[in-house]
Amino acid sequence: MSNAETNPETTPTNGANASPIPSSPFYSHVPVPGKEYGMVANTLIPTGTTLITEPSLITLPADLIYDDYNAAVAAVEAQFIQLSSEYQTQVLSLYHSPVFHEGNHLLGIFKTNAVTQDGSSEGREDYAILLNGFSRFNHACSPNCEGSWMPASKTHVLRTTRDVQEGEELTVAYTDVFQTTGHRREALMGSHGFVCMCSVCGLDIVERQERDELLRKLKRMRDLSEHLLGENLDKEWEKDGILLVLRREDELLKQLCLTGSFEAGPYGIGASIKMNSDPLRCFAFQSITLEILQRCHGEDHPDTIRMKERVVESRSLLMDEQLENIPTDPVAFSDWLWFVPDGKGTVMIKEMIEANEKIGEDDDNDSRKGNWDGEDDGALSPFNSEPDREFEDSVGNEIAGDHSDF
Ligand SMILES: [Zn+2]
Repeated sequence: MSNAETNPETTPTNGANASPIPSSPFYSHVPVPGKEYGMVANTLIPTGTTLITEPSLITLPADLIYDDYNAAVAAVEAQFIQLSSEYQTQVLSLYHSPVFHEGNHLLGIFKTNAVTQDGSSEGREDYAILLNGFSRFNHACSPNCEGSWMPASKTHVLRTTRDVQEGEELTVAYTDVFQTTGHRREALMGSHGFVCMCSVCGLDIVERQERDELLRKLKRMRDLSEHLLGENLDKEWEKDGILLVLRREDELLKQLCLTGSFEAGPYGIGASIKMNSDPLRCFAFQSITLEILQRCHGEDHPDTIRMKERVVESRSLLMDEQLENIPTDPVAFSDWLWFVPDGKGTVMIKEMIEANEKIGEDDDNDSRKGNWDGEDDGALSPFNSEPDREFEDSVGNEIAGDHSDF
Protein backbone atom coordinates (compact mmCIF):
# COMPACT_ATOMS: atom_id res chain seq x y z
CA MET A 1 0.00 0.00 0.00
CA SER A 2 2.74 2.40 0.91
CA ASN A 3 5.02 1.59 -1.96
CA ALA A 4 2.22 2.02 -4.43
CA GLU A 5 1.95 5.61 -3.24
CA THR A 6 5.66 6.26 -3.53
CA ASN A 7 6.94 7.85 -6.67
CA PRO A 8 10.51 6.65 -7.20
CA GLU A 9 11.28 9.58 -9.48
CA THR A 10 10.49 12.26 -6.97
CA THR A 11 10.80 10.69 -3.55
CA PRO A 12 14.30 11.31 -2.19
CA THR A 13 15.98 8.01 -1.38
CA ASN A 14 19.23 6.92 0.10
CA GLY A 15 22.01 8.30 -2.01
CA ALA A 16 19.96 11.12 -3.47
CA ASN A 17 21.54 14.53 -3.41
CA ALA A 18 19.33 15.67 -0.59
CA SER A 19 19.30 19.10 0.96
CA PRO A 20 17.02 18.64 3.95
CA ILE A 21 16.50 22.15 5.32
CA PRO A 22 15.60 24.24 2.31
CA SER A 23 17.93 27.19 2.03
CA SER A 24 16.98 30.32 0.19
CA PRO A 25 18.17 33.90 -0.23
CA PHE A 26 14.62 34.93 0.65
CA TYR A 27 14.29 33.58 4.19
CA SER A 28 16.07 32.07 7.17
CA HIS A 29 15.00 29.34 9.58
CA VAL A 30 15.47 31.20 12.85
CA PRO A 31 14.04 31.34 16.38
CA VAL A 32 10.79 33.32 16.47
CA PRO A 33 9.42 35.02 19.62
CA GLY A 34 6.69 32.93 21.22
CA LYS A 35 7.50 29.90 19.04
CA GLU A 36 10.54 27.72 18.61
CA TYR A 37 11.55 28.33 15.02
CA GLY A 38 9.99 29.90 11.97
CA MET A 39 10.83 31.13 8.49
CA VAL A 40 11.54 34.86 8.43
CA ALA A 41 11.96 37.00 5.30
CA ASN A 42 15.54 38.25 4.74
CA THR A 43 14.35 40.87 2.30
CA LEU A 44 11.18 42.23 0.74
CA ILE A 45 9.61 39.25 -1.02
CA PRO A 46 7.15 40.26 -3.75
CA THR A 47 3.80 38.53 -4.09
CA GLY A 48 3.85 35.45 -6.30
CA THR A 49 7.44 34.51 -5.43
CA THR A 50 8.17 30.77 -5.42
CA LEU A 51 9.83 29.91 -2.12
CA ILE A 52 10.14 26.12 -2.26
CA THR A 53 9.50 23.38 -4.80
CA GLU A 54 9.71 19.99 -3.14
CA PRO A 55 8.50 16.41 -3.46
CA SER A 56 6.43 14.62 -0.86
CA LEU A 57 8.65 12.59 1.48
CA ILE A 58 5.88 10.27 2.58
CA THR A 59 2.49 9.89 0.89
CA LEU A 60 -0.47 8.00 2.35
CA PRO A 61 -4.10 7.65 1.31
CA ALA A 62 -5.95 10.20 3.46
CA ASP A 63 -8.51 7.67 4.71
CA LEU A 64 -5.89 5.19 5.83
CA ILE A 65 -4.46 7.42 8.52
CA TYR A 66 -7.48 7.21 10.75
CA ASP A 67 -9.20 4.10 9.42
CA ASP A 68 -6.49 1.49 9.90
CA TYR A 69 -3.85 2.24 12.52
CA ASN A 70 -1.65 -0.80 11.89
CA ALA A 71 -1.65 -0.36 8.12
CA ALA A 72 -0.88 3.36 8.51
CA VAL A 73 2.10 2.62 10.79
CA ALA A 74 3.40 -0.01 8.37
CA ALA A 75 3.00 2.33 5.40
CA VAL A 76 4.67 5.32 7.03
CA GLU A 77 7.59 3.21 8.28
CA ALA A 78 8.07 1.50 4.91
CA GLN A 79 8.41 4.86 3.17
CA PHE A 80 10.55 6.34 5.93
CA ILE A 81 13.27 3.70 5.56
CA GLN A 82 13.55 4.51 1.86
CA LEU A 83 14.56 8.10 2.62
CA SER A 84 18.16 9.24 2.79
CA SER A 85 19.59 9.44 6.30
CA GLU A 86 19.57 13.24 6.04
CA TYR A 87 15.86 13.27 5.25
CA GLN A 88 15.18 10.71 7.97
CA THR A 89 16.88 13.07 10.43
CA GLN A 90 14.80 15.95 9.17
CA VAL A 91 11.54 14.02 9.36
CA LEU A 92 12.35 13.06 12.94
CA SER A 93 13.07 16.71 13.76
CA LEU A 94 9.62 17.88 12.61
CA TYR A 95 7.12 19.01 15.20
CA HIS A 96 5.20 16.19 16.88
CA SER A 97 1.95 17.54 18.29
CA PRO A 98 1.09 16.37 21.82
CA VAL A 99 -2.31 15.53 20.37
CA PHE A 100 -0.68 12.59 18.58
CA HIS A 101 1.84 11.56 21.25
CA GLU A 102 0.11 8.26 21.90
CA GLY A 103 1.11 5.48 19.55
CA ASN A 104 3.70 5.38 16.82
CA HIS A 105 6.12 8.33 16.78
CA LEU A 106 6.50 8.49 13.00
CA LEU A 107 2.79 8.33 12.41
CA GLY A 108 2.36 11.09 15.00
CA ILE A 109 4.81 13.31 13.11
CA PHE A 110 2.99 12.50 9.89
CA LYS A 111 -0.42 13.34 11.34
CA THR A 112 0.92 16.60 12.76
CA ASN A 113 2.48 17.84 9.53
CA ALA A 114 0.78 16.14 6.60
CA VAL A 115 -1.15 18.19 4.06
CA THR A 116 -4.24 16.70 2.44
CA GLN A 117 -4.54 16.82 -1.33
CA ASP A 118 -7.74 16.47 -3.28
CA GLY A 119 -7.07 13.54 -5.58
CA SER A 120 -10.15 13.90 -7.77
CA SER A 121 -8.40 15.84 -10.55
CA GLU A 122 -5.79 13.06 -10.72
CA GLY A 123 -8.40 10.31 -10.72
CA ARG A 124 -7.41 9.04 -7.30
CA GLU A 125 -8.60 9.18 -3.73
CA ASP A 126 -7.54 12.04 -1.48
CA TYR A 127 -4.05 11.60 -0.12
CA ALA A 128 -1.88 13.13 2.55
CA ILE A 129 1.71 14.23 1.93
CA LEU A 130 4.58 15.04 4.25
CA LEU A 131 6.78 17.95 3.17
CA ASN A 132 10.09 18.83 4.73
CA GLY A 133 10.27 22.51 3.82
CA PHE A 134 6.59 23.39 4.04
CA SER A 135 6.39 21.84 7.52
CA ARG A 136 8.95 24.39 8.79
CA PHE A 137 6.56 27.27 8.13
CA ASN A 138 4.35 28.25 11.03
CA HIS A 139 0.62 28.79 10.92
CA ALA A 140 -1.07 32.18 10.84
CA CYS A 141 -4.77 32.93 10.55
CA SER A 142 -4.08 35.46 7.77
CA PRO A 143 -1.12 33.72 6.13
CA ASN A 144 1.08 35.26 3.45
CA CYS A 145 1.99 32.02 1.64
CA GLU A 146 0.07 29.23 -0.02
CA GLY A 147 1.12 25.77 -1.16
CA SER A 148 -0.02 24.15 -4.40
CA TRP A 149 0.41 20.56 -5.49
CA MET A 150 1.58 20.18 -9.09
CA PRO A 151 0.28 16.82 -10.33
CA ALA A 152 2.49 16.74 -13.46
CA SER A 153 5.80 17.11 -11.62
CA LYS A 154 4.52 15.59 -8.37
CA THR A 155 5.95 18.51 -6.45
CA HIS A 156 4.52 20.91 -3.91
CA VAL A 157 5.20 24.58 -4.54
CA LEU A 158 5.03 27.27 -1.87
CA ARG A 159 4.45 30.84 -3.02
CA THR A 160 3.83 34.21 -1.42
CA THR A 161 0.28 35.48 -1.87
CA ARG A 162 1.15 39.08 -0.99
CA ASP A 163 4.25 41.20 -0.54
CA VAL A 164 6.15 40.15 2.57
CA GLN A 165 8.33 42.74 4.32
CA GLU A 166 11.90 42.13 5.48
CA GLY A 167 11.77 40.64 8.99
CA GLU A 168 8.19 39.44 8.62
CA GLU A 169 7.49 35.78 9.28
CA LEU A 170 6.39 33.67 6.31
CA THR A 171 3.29 31.72 7.25
CA VAL A 172 0.80 29.19 5.92
CA ALA A 173 -2.65 28.00 7.04
CA TYR A 174 -2.92 24.81 9.09
CA THR A 175 -6.67 25.20 9.35
CA ASP A 176 -9.58 26.88 7.59
CA VAL A 177 -8.90 30.59 8.06
CA PHE A 178 -12.50 31.46 7.20
CA GLN A 179 -13.63 30.12 10.55
CA THR A 180 -14.23 32.49 13.44
CA THR A 181 -11.68 32.73 16.24
CA GLY A 182 -13.30 30.14 18.49
CA HIS A 183 -13.55 27.54 15.75
CA ARG A 184 -9.98 28.14 14.61
CA ARG A 185 -8.70 27.77 18.17
CA GLU A 186 -10.62 24.55 18.61
CA ALA A 187 -9.31 23.18 15.30
CA LEU A 188 -5.68 24.11 15.97
CA MET A 189 -5.81 22.74 19.50
CA GLY A 190 -7.33 19.53 18.15
CA SER A 191 -4.77 19.06 15.40
CA HIS A 192 -1.62 20.69 16.73
CA GLY A 193 -2.13 21.30 20.43
CA PHE A 194 -1.30 25.01 20.42
CA VAL A 195 -3.07 28.30 20.93
CA CYS A 196 -2.46 30.57 17.97
CA MET A 197 -0.91 33.91 18.83
CA CYS A 198 -0.72 35.32 15.31
CA SER A 199 -1.40 38.99 14.58
CA VAL A 200 -5.08 38.25 13.95
CA CYS A 201 -5.54 36.20 17.12
CA GLY A 202 -3.58 38.85 19.03
CA LEU A 203 -6.06 41.62 18.22
CA ASP A 204 -7.81 43.15 21.21
CA ILE A 205 -11.20 41.68 22.01
CA VAL A 206 -13.22 44.40 20.28
CA GLU A 207 -11.18 44.16 17.07
CA ARG A 208 -11.35 40.38 17.20
CA GLN A 209 -15.14 40.44 17.54
CA GLU A 210 -15.35 42.83 14.61
CA ARG A 211 -13.21 40.53 12.53
CA ASP A 212 -15.27 37.49 13.52
CA GLU A 213 -18.37 39.38 12.45
CA LEU A 214 -16.80 40.01 9.02
CA LEU A 215 -15.96 36.30 8.77
CA ARG A 216 -19.56 35.40 9.58
CA LYS A 217 -20.79 37.86 6.96
CA LEU A 218 -18.42 36.32 4.41
CA LYS A 219 -19.68 32.85 5.26
CA ARG A 220 -23.28 33.98 4.83
CA MET A 221 -22.50 35.69 1.50
CA ARG A 222 -20.87 32.49 0.26
CA ASP A 223 -23.85 30.45 1.39
CA LEU A 224 -26.14 32.92 -0.35
CA SER A 225 -24.25 32.85 -3.66
CA GLU A 226 -24.05 29.07 -3.49
CA HIS A 227 -27.77 28.91 -2.83
CA LEU A 228 -28.56 31.23 -5.74
CA LEU A 229 -26.22 29.38 -8.09
CA GLY A 230 -27.87 26.13 -7.13
CA GLU A 231 -31.20 27.48 -8.24
CA ASN A 232 -30.36 27.06 -11.95
CA LEU A 233 -31.49 30.58 -12.62
CA ASP A 234 -32.49 31.19 -16.20
CA LYS A 235 -33.46 34.83 -16.18
CA GLU A 236 -30.71 37.36 -16.85
CA TRP A 237 -31.65 39.60 -13.92
CA GLU A 238 -31.43 36.65 -11.56
CA LYS A 239 -27.93 35.79 -12.73
CA ASP A 240 -26.94 39.47 -12.56
CA GLY A 241 -28.19 39.62 -8.99
CA ILE A 242 -25.60 37.07 -7.97
CA LEU A 243 -22.92 39.58 -8.98
CA LEU A 244 -24.08 41.78 -6.10
CA VAL A 245 -23.38 38.94 -3.69
CA LEU A 246 -20.05 38.09 -5.30
CA ARG A 247 -18.95 41.73 -5.13
CA ARG A 248 -19.73 41.77 -1.42
CA GLU A 249 -17.70 38.55 -0.97
CA ASP A 250 -14.79 40.19 -2.75
CA GLU A 251 -15.06 43.30 -0.56
CA LEU A 252 -15.14 41.20 2.61
CA LEU A 253 -12.05 39.23 1.58
CA LYS A 254 -10.20 42.51 1.03
CA GLN A 255 -11.44 43.92 4.35
CA LEU A 256 -10.20 40.78 6.10
CA CYS A 257 -6.83 41.03 4.28
CA LEU A 258 -7.11 37.35 3.38
CA THR A 259 -5.00 36.51 0.34
CA GLY A 260 -4.77 33.30 -1.65
CA SER A 261 -6.13 31.49 -4.66
CA PHE A 262 -9.62 31.67 -3.10
CA GLU A 263 -9.63 35.38 -4.11
CA ALA A 264 -10.32 34.11 -7.63
CA GLY A 265 -13.65 32.58 -6.57
CA PRO A 266 -15.98 35.57 -7.10
CA TYR A 267 -14.26 36.50 -10.39
CA GLY A 268 -14.38 32.94 -11.71
CA ILE A 269 -18.12 32.77 -11.08
CA GLY A 270 -18.56 36.29 -12.50
CA ALA A 271 -16.92 35.08 -15.72
CA SER A 272 -19.33 32.13 -15.87
CA ILE A 273 -22.32 34.40 -15.36
CA LYS A 274 -21.26 36.79 -18.12
CA MET A 275 -19.99 34.12 -20.52
CA ASN A 276 -22.87 34.26 -22.97
CA SER A 277 -24.43 37.65 -22.32
CA ASP A 278 -21.41 39.97 -22.10
CA PRO A 279 -18.15 38.73 -23.71
CA LEU A 280 -16.21 41.85 -22.73
CA ARG A 281 -17.00 41.58 -19.03
CA CYS A 282 -16.49 37.81 -19.17
CA PHE A 283 -13.01 38.48 -20.55
CA ALA A 284 -12.34 41.04 -17.79
CA PHE A 285 -13.49 38.62 -15.06
CA GLN A 286 -11.38 35.84 -16.55
CA SER A 287 -8.31 38.09 -16.81
CA ILE A 288 -8.48 38.92 -13.10
CA THR A 289 -9.04 35.27 -12.26
CA LEU A 290 -5.93 34.43 -14.28
CA GLU A 291 -3.83 37.08 -12.51
CA ILE A 292 -4.80 35.65 -9.12
CA LEU A 293 -4.04 32.07 -10.19
CA GLN A 294 -0.68 33.09 -11.69
CA ARG A 295 0.21 34.81 -8.42
CA CYS A 296 -0.95 32.08 -6.05
CA HIS A 297 -0.48 28.86 -8.03
CA GLY A 298 2.12 29.83 -10.65
CA GLU A 299 2.12 29.53 -14.44
CA ASP A 300 2.38 25.74 -14.56
CA HIS A 301 -0.55 24.85 -12.33
CA PRO A 302 -3.41 23.08 -14.15
CA ASP A 303 -5.96 25.71 -13.03
CA THR A 304 -3.75 28.51 -14.38
CA ILE A 305 -3.19 26.74 -17.69
CA ARG A 306 -6.93 26.12 -18.07
CA MET A 307 -7.80 29.73 -17.29
CA LYS A 308 -5.13 31.04 -19.66
CA GLU A 309 -6.72 29.03 -22.47
CA ARG A 310 -10.11 30.53 -21.63
CA VAL A 311 -8.71 34.07 -21.60
CA VAL A 312 -7.07 33.56 -25.00
CA GLU A 313 -10.30 32.16 -26.40
CA SER A 314 -12.40 35.02 -24.99
CA ARG A 315 -9.93 37.59 -26.30
CA SER A 316 -10.13 36.09 -29.79
CA LEU A 317 -13.86 36.83 -29.86
CA LEU A 318 -13.33 40.54 -29.13
CA MET A 319 -12.38 43.39 -31.44
CA ASP A 320 -9.54 45.69 -30.38
CA GLU A 321 -11.99 48.62 -30.22
CA GLN A 322 -14.13 46.77 -27.68
CA LEU A 323 -11.23 46.60 -25.24
CA GLU A 324 -11.15 50.41 -25.23
CA ASN A 325 -14.50 50.30 -23.43
CA ILE A 326 -12.88 48.80 -20.34
CA PRO A 327 -12.36 51.64 -17.82
CA THR A 328 -8.77 52.15 -16.72
CA ASP A 329 -9.49 53.99 -13.47
CA PRO A 330 -9.64 51.32 -10.72
CA VAL A 331 -12.88 52.59 -9.12
CA ALA A 332 -14.61 53.06 -12.47
CA PHE A 333 -13.38 49.63 -13.53
CA SER A 334 -14.79 47.97 -10.42
CA ASP A 335 -18.16 49.70 -10.85
CA TRP A 336 -18.23 48.70 -14.51
CA LEU A 337 -17.22 45.11 -13.84
CA TRP A 338 -19.81 44.45 -11.14
CA PHE A 339 -22.56 46.64 -12.60
CA VAL A 340 -26.07 45.28 -12.18
CA PRO A 341 -29.08 47.21 -13.49
CA ASP A 342 -31.83 47.92 -10.96
CA GLY A 343 -34.81 45.67 -11.38
CA LYS A 344 -37.26 43.44 -9.59
CA GLY A 345 -34.76 40.67 -8.99
CA THR A 346 -31.89 42.85 -7.87
CA VAL A 347 -34.11 44.58 -5.30
CA MET A 348 -34.91 41.18 -3.83
CA ILE A 349 -31.25 40.13 -3.72
CA LYS A 350 -30.20 43.50 -2.26
CA GLU A 351 -32.72 42.91 0.52
CA MET A 352 -31.23 39.46 1.16
CA ILE A 353 -27.74 40.95 1.34
CA GLU A 354 -28.89 43.70 3.71
CA ALA A 355 -30.63 41.14 5.94
CA ASN A 356 -27.36 39.25 6.18
CA GLU A 357 -25.39 42.34 7.05
CA LYS A 358 -27.65 42.95 10.03
CA ILE A 359 -27.43 39.52 11.64
CA GLY A 360 -25.32 39.84 14.76
CA GLU A 361 -23.30 37.29 16.67
CA ASP A 362 -26.20 36.40 18.93
CA ASP A 363 -28.57 35.92 16.05
CA ASP A 364 -26.70 33.26 14.12
CA ASN A 365 -29.53 30.82 14.48
CA ASP A 366 -32.13 33.44 13.72
CA SER A 367 -34.55 32.58 10.94
CA ARG A 368 -33.74 35.91 9.27
CA LYS A 369 -30.65 34.42 7.78
CA GLY A 370 -32.78 33.03 5.04
CA ASN A 371 -33.53 29.75 3.39
CA TRP A 372 -30.06 28.78 2.27
CA ASP A 373 -27.83 26.42 4.18
CA GLY A 374 -27.38 27.23 7.81
CA GLU A 375 -24.22 28.53 9.41
CA ASP A 376 -21.70 25.80 9.78
CA ASP A 377 -18.01 26.38 10.00
CA GLY A 378 -17.39 22.93 8.68
CA ALA A 379 -15.98 19.78 10.17
CA LEU A 380 -12.60 20.18 11.75
CA SER A 381 -9.89 18.70 9.63
CA PRO A 382 -8.10 15.82 11.35
CA PHE A 383 -4.81 17.14 10.10
CA ASN A 384 -3.44 20.06 8.12
CA SER A 385 -5.40 21.00 5.12
CA GLU A 386 -5.42 23.85 2.70
CA PRO A 387 -8.21 26.35 3.31
CA ASP A 388 -11.47 24.94 2.03
CA ARG A 389 -13.43 26.00 -1.01
CA GLU A 390 -10.74 25.05 -3.47
CA PHE A 391 -10.93 27.21 -6.50
CA GLU A 392 -10.77 24.47 -9.08
CA ASP A 393 -14.41 23.60 -8.48
CA SER A 394 -15.43 27.06 -9.54
CA VAL A 395 -13.52 27.82 -12.68
CA GLY A 396 -15.60 28.29 -15.72
CA ASN A 397 -18.58 26.19 -14.82
CA GLU A 398 -21.57 27.05 -16.92
CA ILE A 399 -24.08 29.01 -14.90
CA ALA A 400 -26.74 26.39 -15.44
CA GLY A 401 -24.33 23.67 -14.44
CA ASP A 402 -23.68 22.13 -11.11
CA HIS A 403 -22.36 24.66 -8.64
CA SER A 404 -23.11 22.57 -5.64
CA ASP A 405 -19.43 22.28 -4.81
CA PHE A 406 -19.02 26.00 -4.68
ZN1 LIG B 1 -4.15 33.01 14.64
